[in-house]
Parts: sequence; C-alpha cells; structure tokens
Amino acid sequence: MKLGLNLSFATKRWLQPEILAKMIKNDLDIKYIQFTWDIIDPWWPEDKRDFLAKQWSNAFKNEGLILTGTFGGLASYTYAHLLAPTKEQRQIAVEFFKRAIDLTTQMGADTIGTPIGGMSHEDANNEKKREELYQIALDHVRELSVYAKQKGVKKIVIEATPLITEFPHSPAASLQLMKDLEGTTDVPVRLLIDWGHALYKPLLRDEADMSLWLKECYPYVDSIHLQQTDGLLDRHWDFTSEGIITLELIKKVTDECGANDIIQYLEIVPPFEALDEDVYNNLKETVKLLKSIT
Ligand code: FE
Ligand code: MN
Repeated sequence: MKLGLNLSFATKRWLQPEILAKMIKNDLDIKYIQFTWDIIDPWWPEDKRDFLAKQWSNAFKNEGLILTGTFGGLASYTYAHLLAPTKEQRQIAVEFFKRAIDLTTQMGADTIGTPIGGMSHEDANNEKKREELYQIALDHVRELSVYAKQKGVKKIVIEATPLITEFPHSPAASLQLMKDLEGTTDVPVRLLIDWGHALYKPLLRDEADMSLWLKECYPYVDSIHLQQTDGLLDRHWDFTSEGIITLELIKKVTDECGANDIIQYLEIVPPFEALDEDVYNNLKETVKLLKSIT
C-alpha cells in the first residue's frame, strides 16, 4: 500500500509551514502530501494567497516532501458549488474552482481534487432537475479542464461522496461520470474514492464494499482517502478508534484490487474541540499502524 497524507488534521492547529513540514518529515515520515484548502482558502486575495502558497510549497520541498496536489476541505465542501440551484451560484463555483487551480499552480502541484457540489432538497428530489444539473456540472468540469490545462494543472480529481443529493454517490454513478467526461476534457478527470464514503451503509447497502468500488471504477481511480469509520456516518476517525476498517481489510482489498500503486491519503478530520496533543499522538499511532501494512 502507498501511504499519503491529506493535511486536514492540521486545520486550525498546525498552520506554520516549516513547523508542520518538519513534523511530517520527522515524526510521520510520509512523503506524499495532499494540501487542503482549509489551510489556504482559494478565495483569499491573490497576492497574499500566493505568497502563503509559496511558503508552504517551499517548506515541503525543504523537507523533501512531495506535494502531489491540493484538495477541497471541510470549508469548501459546505457549499453547493457546481450543483447549486441557480446559474449565478454555479458561476461563482466555477470562479472558485478556477482560483483553486491558480492556488495549485502557485504551489507547484499538478493535480486538483474536490467533490463537485451538492443539490438543494427540491432539485435532488426532482428527476428532471437532477439530470439537468448533472449535464450542467459536466459542462462546468469540461470548462475547468480547459482552464487547468492553460495553468499547467494536469489532472482534475473528483471525490465521490456518500450523499444522494450529490454526484457521484455510488460505484455505478462514479463509473458513469468518468465515462461521460472521458475524451471531452482538456486534462484527464479521475476519481478519488474515500473509504468512509464507500462504506456508508445507510445509503449504499450491499454496495458498501470497497472492493466493489475499486473493481468497478478501477481504470479511473486516481487516489483514495483513508479514514476509520463505523459505516453509520462519515467519521474521518483516526485508526486508534474502533471501527469497521481493519488493517487486514485495507491490505486485503488493496492487494486483491491491484491498488498497491494508488496513493491512499490518510484523511483525519478531528472535532475542532479535540486537544492538539491527543490529535497528534493518535495521528502518530495511526501512521505507525498503517505503515505496518505498507
Ligand atoms: Fe475524503
Ligand atoms: Mn468524507
């Protein structure tokens, strides 16, 4: 298994580039870093944002870490983005994602990833509206791929989410999305599967099966988010917590699906009120556990 690290654990805690880069290098020793927009908001004023972006990318470089891409976090996930009810809101989302592409370029990374947005209650429950918004979202992703290429970003990664009000939510919907986009974008669009989303039983039932997801979507899977969960909600726990994802399961599924070259980014989202010391100790313990199967 190839282990990477999404920086979501650092949100509101470790915000100084040199300090966090050293922690990752010395205490965790994970090479592949996925930056989160929860640390730098793509909306921030361009000059100040880009100054910070460079500080972060230099800090990673100085520690020999590889910044593989930037990814949407908790803050941006809150918004409706490309599936918003009005054209104006969706255009704001396109502008937002373009700024995220700019941020990615400034950091010297070549991959951008995110969930694409969520529908309103009314739209999600209206078949005709769902199809209309799906097609609109596809066109916006195509538009973003043109911009990505201009800016030197080589790949757009879409994360599947465990919500019926979003696209894509299942193995079949993910595969369909990939096929619908294939050959119509200026840079490749690929899929990110999150263990905790893929195993969300209330929505997926029999399809809450990581092997099924990986096998069905295999040619399109770019990367994976790794987290502990109970399958009842999308937990983003670390692996010191009791849950349904065991080390044995991770290893078995990864081997069996030929996924050993796919980077699995550990994506821990602790409650804001959790103590920094606990978050960090559990993270270190988690990395140790995961390294035992790499
Ligand atoms: Fe995720
Ligand atoms: Mn999640």
